[in-house]
Amino acid sequence: MPTVNAYAAMSATEELVPTTINTREVGPHDVRIAVAYAGICHSDIHTARNEWGNTAYPVVPGHEIAGTVAEIGSEVTKYQVGDRVGVGCFVDSCRECEACVLGQEQYCRRGMVGTYNSTGRNGEPTTGGYAQEVVVDANYVLRIPDSLGLDVAAPLLCAGITTYSPLRHWGAGPGKRVAIIGLGGLGHMGVKIAAAMGAEVSVISQSLKKMEDGLRLGAQHYYATDDPATFKQLRGKFDLIINTVSVNFDINKYMGMLALNGTLVELGLPEKPISVRAMSLTANRRSLAGSMIGGIAETQEMLDFCAEHDLGSEIEVIPAQQINEAYERVIASDVRYRFVIDNSTL
Ligand code: NAP
Ligand code: ZN
Ligand code: ZN
Repeated sequence: MPTVNAYAAMSATEELVPTTINTREVGPHDVRIAVAYAGICHSDIHTARNEWGNTAYPVVPGHEIAGTVAEIGSEVTKYQVGDRVGVGCFVDSCRECEACVLGQEQYCRRGMVGTYNSTGRNGEPTTGGYAQEVVVDANYVLRIPDSLGLDVAAPLLCAGITTYSPLRHWGAGPGKRVAIIGLGGLGHMGVKIAAAMGAEVSVISQSLKKMEDGLRLGAQHYYATDDPATFKQLRGKFDLIINTVSVNFDINKYMGMLALNGTLVELGLPEKPISVRAMSLTANRRSLAGSMIGGIAETQEMLDFCAEHDLGSEIEVIPAQQINEAYERVIASDVRYRFVIDNSTL
């Protein structure tokens, strides 16, 4: 089995360390991808630190993968060596259930196979993009349009699709007042994509520190929650609110910002349950919903949409040796707006 360099978390309390892993041999339907860049998603941090209580160590995170095809299996026709490709949050699913048939493999009834911290069909643990190579079934590989750099495309494979899918599903477009809570990795892509869809976009951030960026990315309005007047001012203002905050906070205060029939879509995955007052829902006939990444076909649609509208991620490229430092900065909301690992430094 080919051995490649990687970074892994060995336990919930230790920093990630360099290591080597064995990737599987390329099967008839697989492609081997030389990873050029891997984005750092906050979910990588939740997982590395076992904040969801389901991490199997060692874990090699990374589900925002961009690179080139290095080898193809005998039955693969969709890709050729040298093609620019990406891999997102899952690498397999049952392919038979209702969700899979509908192309919503992320909701596979039998459970999708996660890109990392999961068990592949061969019974081996899956390993993510903090590695020189990944081997993935070609059906779960995306094509990265030529006009998008691989570095700015990598974060689209999670942050891009996770915001694109609910924006499409809940009809973001002209006449819709959309608010994005949290201007981090997901949030900044949410702003760009919602604006490109034609919605009136507001950012709700903890402070006004990133206001100039938010407006440049396409928001028309920018609000800070460190000013208590914001909550009063925004009562009943939005048709759709996308919450990307990674920690627990009082969601009821934000539900109050929904207009009649408005929906708040939860994307953030904080450690503890969310507490919602019944009145937060009954007033204005509001909905609280959730959404998880997107299917393969929709991910390709998102990549093509981003290419068409020239929407790459705003990134800070780091060598692998700075992963732990980057984690601390993400947690401190000190990221503009996605750290991307240059995998040549592995
Ligand atoms: P991120 O880059 O860290 O962004 C989160 C943002 O939340 C921060 O930039 C910050 O924005 C805001 N925030 C942080 N702490 C806060 C606090 N104490 N109070 C209020 N706001 C706070 O994280 P990400 O990579 O975008 O991921 C966000 C969350 O989504 C994570 O929980 C991740 O696991 C989850 N996620 C879910 C899916 C899905 O399919 N549903 C997919 C990917 C990720 P401001 O500085 O602007 O306030
Ligand atoms: Zn992610
Ligand atoms: Zn399925």
